[in-house]
Amino acid sequence: MNWTEIGQQIRDFAVELTQVKSVVGSPQELDSTKKVMERLEAMAYFKQHPDRLYYVDIADDQLGRNSVLAYIKGEKGDSQKTVVMIGHTDTVGTSDYGEIEAYATRPDELPEQYQKLILPQDAIDDLASGDYIFGRGIFDMKTGVSILIHLLEQFSLDPSQLEGNLVLAAVSDEEGNSGGMLGVVPELIRLQQKEGFEYQAMVDTDYSAPRFDGDETRYLYVGTVGKLMPSFFCVGSEAHGGDPFRGIDPNHIASAIVQEINFNMDYAEEAEGETTVPPISLRLQDLKPEYSVQTAKTSYVYFNFSTHTSTPDAMLPKVKAGAKKAFESVIDQLNRQYRIYAERNHFEFEELPWKARVLSYAELLEQVMAERGD
Ligand SMILES: [Zn+2]
Repeated sequence: MNWTEIGQQIRDFAVELTQVKSVVGSPQELDSTKKVMERLEAMAYFKQHPDRLYYVDIADDQLGRNSVLAYIKGEKGDSQKTVVMIGHTDTVGTSDYGEIEAYATRPDELPEQYQKLILPQDAIDDLASGDYIFGRGIFDMKTGVSILIHLLEQFSLDPSQLEGNLVLAAVSDEEGNSGGMLGVVPELIRLQQKEGFEYQAMVDTDYSAPRFDGDETRYLYVGTVGKLMPSFFCVGSEAHGGDPFRGIDPNHIASAIVQEINFNMDYAEEAEGETTVPPISLRLQDLKPEYSVQTAKTSYVYFNFSTHTSTPDAMLPKVKAGAKKAFESVIDQLNRQYRIYAERNHFEFEELPWKARVLSYAELLEQVMAERGD
């Protein structure tokens, strides 16, 4: 085995796969899984065992997207121990490339294009070093997929030397709704029954990054991180911009919730000495359909929430309490400002009528059903 040569092959295929644009949620995701399929089909092992390489469709997917599943069975001893290798074939969008977007998936041409841009010094240094390959998806995670494919290939060369089995799943829609992985799970269970696979571990070669400037450590993460997405729907009361104290602005409430929860380490979780990243808002927006001088009636905000152990049941009371605190702070602030406004305009201050109410969806549903029936 010549690892320098294999390294070169990994690099070359990573670049080739990057050239196949496959932005999540676009029909081109299919081109990416096809490319992976073709690469695997070319292996001698799958010519001999074509039934061990196939597409797994995402059920009821409007774009008809799929994932690629491949496995090799070791022939040394009779171990059924199986390792599953997973990678995703889609990427995030390319609009952040701005004026050079057309080159986002052309790693060979990007360095020249970058010369046209104003770049920060560290990017200029990286560019000049020649040590980097650029392009949407090269890092996240087409190189990772290429590594897995080449590992699988090496093990497939002589199955008589392999004790146990290897499964590769190259999934689509990872940057979106995880349709690819969700589609592959039942297939893995089917293989468990059909082939008697005893799953030992999953290996995911998605990217990892330095944890701080100048961090030279290369990390291998063990275990899993859960993701929850608490979402808040804020209902205010409309007011005309000329008479704002008559209403309560749902954007004000939503921004207070962001202030409370965003980057707040009190909401991070620790397990075995490792702490999760704090929550970060993924969207904040009101639902006013057009411009008007009326304030919005509703808005919403949702957060990415990493967990190590918490289930939604444990997390919900915590974020509800946070939202209540945020909501109350808005009302207090409004009353303080209204008092000043009243004083300066020489009329009597009266406490504003707002009360902070934070309900879970289940509580809201229960109240509506009690009022309106099913
Ligand atoms: Zn990724």
